[in-house]
Amino acid sequence: MTIKVIIFSKNQIETLKKHSEQNSPNEACAILFGNNVNYQVTIKEIFLTKNIDQAPANFTISSEELIAAYSSAEKMALDVSGIFHSHPVSVPYPSLTDKKYMEINPVPWIIFSNINDEFKAYIYNSGIIIEIPVKVL
Ligand SMILES: [Zn+2]
Repeated sequence: MTIKVIIFSKNQIETLKKHSEQNSPNEACAILFGNNVNYQVTIKEIFLTKNIDQAPANFTISSEELIAAYSSAEKMALDVSGIFHSHPVSVPYPSLTDKKYMEINPVPWIIFSNINDEFKAYIYNSGIIIEIPVKVL
């Protein structure tokens, strides 16, 4: 999937930051719903999830929450447009584990770093990880 930009509102960014701070020192995670028009993804809703691993360097969303997320996106007529997680103690760059799962889930992956307060987005495309610009409106 080619995506030129991923657009968040200020409120959505605040919600994701707060969720990350509350889960620190463990990783926080969420599913992002939105739409994709002309290669621009606009995030519309955030579905906060639990990290069942409760670990500082990896995350897992339960299959129950995944099913609930997909069904609520469908009800809202939105796409699952991104997977969010935080890096409490490292920079917002995909880990080796992230890269493995990005290949399985080729949607935008958004990573927030608690250490430098930065959001970055990436997508797996034909064997490589591409950074997607993040825009906050
Ligand atoms: Zn990660």
